[in-house]
Amino acid sequence: MVLAIAAHRDDVEQTCGGTLLVQKSLGWQTAILDLTQGESGTRGSAAEREAEANEAARLLQVDHRSALDLPDGSIQNTLENRLKIAEVLRRLRPRVVILPYWQGRHPDHYTAATLGYEACFAAGLAKLDIPGAPHRPYKILYASLYADVRPTFVVDITPHIETRLQSLLAYRSQYGNQTQGSGLFVPEEDIRERTFATARHYGLLAGVRYAEPFVQKEVSLVSDLMHLPVASI
Ligand SMILES: [Zn+2]
Repeated sequence: MVLAIAAHRDDVEQTCGGTLLVQKSLGWQTAILDLTQGESGTRGSAAEREAEANEAARLLQVDHRSALDLPDGSIQNTLENRLKIAEVLRRLRPRVVILPYWQGRHPDHYTAATLGYEACFAAGLAKLDIPGAPHRPYKILYASLYADVRPTFVVDITPHIETRLQSLLAYRSQYGNQTQGSGLFVPEEDIRERTFATARHYGLLAGVRYAEPFVQKEVSLVSDLMHLPVASI
C-alpha cells in the first residue's frame, strides 16, 4: 500500500493525487490520511469538506481515506499526535508513505512532515502503548509541489491529469465559482490552468507531458546503467 499523509483535505489532490492514480493503475492499494478536518477554512464547514473529501477519494480510487482531529491551522508535533498517526500506520501497514515537504509557507505543512516522519518511526517501536503490531514503512517520500525545490524524481501522471484536476474541483466549497471570499480564491478556470501548467513544468524536467515532483532523502540505487530513464541531451 501507498499511504499519502497530508495536513489538509485537498493537499493530496494538489500534490500527489496523480501519483496515487498511477499506483492504483499498477495494482497497488492506496490510501489518504488527512491530519485535520478543515474547520478553520474561510469557506465551508468541516462536514461539507468531509463530503467533498469523500467524493475526491472516489475519483482518486483510493482504498481508504480518513481524517484525524488535529487542530486545523495549529498542527503540533506532540507525542499524542505521533501516536494517533502511528496507530493508523499499524492498521494500514503501508510500504510507502508520502509526506508533505519539510519546508514551506504554511506551518501545518512543514510540521506535518516532521510529525509524519516521527510517527513512522514510532509505529515500529515494539513497546508502544497503542493497538496493532509494530510496523515501519520501508520508504518515506516527500511531495514537493508546494515547495520551490528541485525534485529528486518525478512521476509521470499524464493519463491521470484530468481526473486529478476533477478530484481537486470536488472541493466545491473551496474552489467553485462563487463570490464569497473571492479575493482569496481563484475561479475554476484559473485552477485548471495552474494545475496543468505546474504539472507540465515538472513533466518537462523529465521529458514527459505531466508529472508530480518528489524528494527522497536517500540516494538512489542503480543496478543497470542501460535502463536509466530521462535523456541527458
Ligand atoms: Zn494544506
